[in-house]
Amino acid sequence: MTIQILPQEVASAIAAGEVVERPVSVVKELVENALDAGARSIAVRIEGGGRRLVEVSDDGAGIPAEEVPLAVERHATSKLRTIDDLFAIRTLGFRGEALASIAAVAHLELISRTSHDPKGTRLRVEGGNAGRPETVGAPAGTVVRVQDLFFNVPARQKFLKSEETERRRILTLVSRYALAYPHVRFQLTQEDRPGFASSGSGDRREVLSAVFGLDVAREMIALPSAEGRGVQVEGYISPPAVHRSNRREVTLFVNGRWIQDAALTAAVVQAYQGLLMVGRYPIAALFVAVPPETVDVNVHPAKAEIRFREPEVVFATVQRAVRATLLGQAPATALVAPAVWGAGWTESAAARAADPAWAIAHAEAPAEAPAGPIAQPGLSAGKLPLLRSIGQVGATYLVAEGPDGLYLIDQHAAHERVLFERLMQQQQAGVASQTLLEPVTVELSAAESMVLEGQVEILRRLGFDVEAFGSTAYRVRAVPPLLAHLPAALALRVVIEDFEEDEAPLVDAVEARVAARVCKRAAVKSGQVLSLVEQEQLVRDLESCAVPRSCPHGRPTMIHLSVDTLERQFGRRG
Ligand code: ADP
Ligand code: MG
Repeated sequence: MTIQILPQEVASAIAAGEVVERPVSVVKELVENALDAGARSIAVRIEGGGRRLVEVSDDGAGIPAEEVPLAVERHATSKLRTIDDLFAIRTLGFRGEALASIAAVAHLELISRTSHDPKGTRLRVEGGNAGRPETVGAPAGTVVRVQDLFFNVPARQKFLKSEETERRRILTLVSRYALAYPHVRFQLTQEDRPGFASSGSGDRREVLSAVFGLDVAREMIALPSAEGRGVQVEGYISPPAVHRSNRREVTLFVNGRWIQDAALTAAVVQAYQGLLMVGRYPIAALFVAVPPETVDVNVHPAKAEIRFREPEVVFATVQRAVRATLLGQAPATALVAPAVWGAGWTESAAARAADPAWAIAHAEAPAEAPAGPIAQPGLSAGKLPLLRSIGQVGATYLVAEGPDGLYLIDQHAAHERVLFERLMQQQQAGVASQTLLEPVTVELSAAESMVLEGQVEILRRLGFDVEAFGSTAYRVRAVPPLLAHLPAALALRVVIEDFEEDEAPLVDAVEARVAARVCKRAAVKSGQVLSLVEQEQLVRDLESCAVPRSCPHGRPTMIHLSVDTLERQFGRRG
């Protein structure tokens, strides 16, 4: 083919593709424009999963009549003048591309009126060609109606997912923005059915209920607002008992902008190290504020990614805030009623949620601390009180007494926790290795040896001394002391299996996961009879743990039966 300048509409459609990938991109740009215009109320209407119609109405500042034709031009913006302004951006938009891009691949209609103008202005753009502006009656604010998205880009249509998928993405987007802007009222109507809505009252926990449901919202822990080197963090995180199978529910806003940042997400997930079961992820909605000059927001056409000038500072501040909040909060599983005797934390939370009396008592106070009725003073602190061992039940649970009642301790989970913290400490001190009397040769499968090759460094830090001995054979000279009682081949497999399951391991996270796995193997089993001395030792060891109330996989190590509960159960108190 000969070189030719592309016709205008082809060039525009290509450029538009970067900004408008799918219906939710349109919703995002329009909602951001409404927020930039200072709207207090934003209504989003969707038909056909956003392909037939996306309409966003706001009560913001509006566009002066004479500027309306400019708004749909490419590189036309009221938000930035010079390149320096880019590093002092306080608005969500700045590229002046969204309306033009949308208009290039759809039918766009814009009606806007400022509070100074007596009448509004309407402008229609069909596949990039703007009509003549008309004067119309309109409320102050702006309505942008986008119809038949990609009508002129059939190739793009083929890439769209089902309407259901698009609807779900739109719901996610609108609800996340509602979380970030609790003072703005959001209303989403999909296919003529009213869906998500927020009141704009400014109460973020109320929005949290609308987004995640009352049960989850109640459990979410508010981050005390934290600041470090100009970085501010606030928001909500799930307690270890509430988790998801993927990282998607970790929502991050930076300076009011919803961003996707794998490293920052990983920092949040890592703050849960040792508190969540392997392969489980937290729910979080974190709002980070940094000085505008320390981030580059212009690295992604859809503005979904940003670049921090000092990423480590941001990550560390966020991670520290989340970790500190978690360690201060993890409550022991406490017993609510005989019906849930022996139930885990999650079950008892479910039982609570199902209890109508509790729901009513708590529905009115969504802004309160979310710990629920089972949290008792002193219990939410990380450390355990001094306990007195009483005995063992069913060769599985230890019974102990504390100043605040009775504790039933799962001996296996408790021992896992003790070993886990010991191993992590030893590792940090760099002493966790036991040399074998005779080196052992282990034959691995090709897949296993590939996994091992990539993780030699972590294995070494864990206390393994392993070297290649042929293509898939390895020679083990030393193992972590915790695994010394296992045959060396088995000890090595315990950790390789774990790597295989991981999709995108981070060094620290893998280390913790491997450590957790190691401890599971090494811990006393349930059904194992312990002498009184052993029981006492385990309780002592657990007392000295930093996070004694859950095992490294996130399960509770103990159930607490408070004096208060005992008295109520025995009818001594109402
Ligand atoms: P950007 O947001 O990057 O400036 P857009 O193409 O999204 O670019 O919008 C172009 C301009 O149109 C904005 O700078 C703003 O002045 C105006 N505008 C767009 N939407 C609205 C709205 N909902 N309310 C008021 N002004 C708007
Ligand atoms: Mg914009």
